Amino acid sequence: MLKIPKKTNMNTTAQILMKREFVDMVISGQIRRDETGLEGELYLSKLFEEELQVKPIILYGVRLVVEEKECQFDCLMIFQDKCMLIEVKNYSGDYFYDRGKFYFVSSKDEIDSPLEQLNRATRMFRKFLREIKMNFEVIPRLVFTGKEFQLYQSDLSLPIIHPGQIRRFIKKLNNESCYLNQRHTKLEEIIYARHRVFSSYEKKYEYEYDQLDKKMSCEKCDGRMESISQVKMKCSKCKVIERTQIALTRNIDEFIWLFPEMKITTSRIYEWIGESISQYSVRKYLKSHMIEKGNNKDRSYVKL
Ligand SMILES: [Zn+2]
Repeated sequence: MLKIPKKTNMNTTAQILMKREFVDMVISGQIRRDETGLEGELYLSKLFEEELQVKPIILYGVRLVVEEKECQFDCLMIFQDKCMLIEVKNYSGDYFYDRGKFYFVSSKDEIDSPLEQLNRATRMFRKFLREIKMNFEVIPRLVFTGKEFQLYQSDLSLPIIHPGQIRRFIKKLNNESCYLNQRHTKLEEIIYARHRVFSSYEKKYEYEYDQLDKKMSCEKCDGRMESISQVKMKCSKCKVIERTQIALTRNIDEFIWLFPEMKITTSRIYEWIGESISQYSVRKYLKSHMIEKGNNKDRSYVKL
């Protein structure tokens, strides 16, 4: 779950909404930022795989609740006596740093400080370790991965790794003691157990059923899938072919994800998938894959 960088669940909702032509500038901006951020994390994880000779426990996208506040870090490395918290920023362009703040060079506009974010996460993670009575030194690092990124007036005392320093940073990590035992596995287990899959920020999206495009949506792209046989469907955009049952499962899951309170009925799902397969097939699927509730007139289904 946390072993490779992946899109955070925070934008699962956003992604499904975007597939269904829900236009919202805040959400599309969020998705773009998340995608760029993910590229940076993937780049770093690949370098770790290739160049790291020691074997610390590495977890990505950890989200914990400490004292009722949520904190998230891109990457956590567990060494023998240290935990390294890494915030990855895949910015590109010119920035400058001045007295704790970050600005665009061109517009002089201030941006949300990634250092502040990292410091907050570090404080919270230290609290978390105290809470679970584990003793590790916590070292924060802010890693900029964008090749086109330049930070002016950076202070040498800051825990920042610039794009050109990443390989040397990894080389240094190779000198860290890394004899891991049960203590480390236990920490990993506690983090897994406490990891919060869904961010509480997710709830901020507001949307309604009627605002969304009704179709059988393709997994690979945002295309519309059409039936090509009794059991198969084809995406009209990327031409991928998928078993109808799998496409339907995914589209119903998306419906449940977006509208957990809504009743699942044959006619509702038939509408949700843009009438792309027959009502009969929808009913047959629901009957065999879900639990029936209610009588003939008011029948609905719930997921197993
Ligand atoms: Zn497609």
